[in-house]
Amino acid sequence: MTTPGLPQSIRACLFDLDGVITRTAVVHAAAWREMFDDFLGHREGDAFRPFSDDDYDRYVDGRPRADGVRTFLASRGIELPEGSPDDGPGEETVNGLGNRKNELLLARIHKDGVDAYPGSLRYLGTVRDAGLKTAVVSSSANCRDILAAVRIENMFDARIDGVVARERGLPGKPAPDTFLAAARDLGEAPAACAVFEDAQAGMDAGRAGRFGYVVGVDRVGQAEALRAHGADTVVEDLAELEGRS
Ligand SMILES: [Mg+2]
Repeated sequence: MTTPGLPQSIRACLFDLDGVITRTAVVHAAAWREMFDDFLGHREGDAFRPFSDDDYDRYVDGRPRADGVRTFLASRGIELPEGSPDDGPGEETVNGLGNRKNELLLARIHKDGVDAYPGSLRYLGTVRDAGLKTAVVSSSANCRDILAAVRIENMFDARIDGVVARERGLPGKPAPDTFLAAARDLGEAPAACAVFEDAQAGMDAGRAGRFGYVVGVDRVGQAEALRAHGADTVVEDLAELEGRS
């Protein structure tokens, strides 16, 4: 049997979704860029500085939608009213801009579909064959639909996503609470859980929650930043872990 390449003490694996299991981090980044560049262009005219990959990695990736809007705008010295979660996508509020981004995201997903990383799907199978428990821990409110689209709903023993987090009042990444809730749902201590994340905010959550092992998944050449934010190891594909002892 192939071994999952984790410390012997690990009993459960907590996987981020976008960018770890599915190729959706790039789709999210494109939807954020379209929304913010449109907003900044209207507000600041031709002089505006476009939303960059670095902005995405530092201020947005991995965070709940409204937190991503607020954190990025703060980095540009812009503060908007919060508004409410059902604000229309045309409202110039934190929630309105977040909903606009979600509309753009869903349009892209609808048009292009969703891909899972083959190495991640195989690794999920290896981990489960080895008797480890699995959870998906995502800030996304679309997590369930995306799991269904790639037909892997039944590969996880627990799911903590944007919808569950809101129901339970859990703060999102970089706070560790969503990962801690998944560990609790699986009946394992944080020290017996490995966290798999591609975002700097996810690394911070892994470190803050004192999880047993934190795997940084580097899809965009940010290995150094992932290590600086607390990764115990960095891989470009989960398949690299298989057979490691
Ligand atoms: Mg991610």
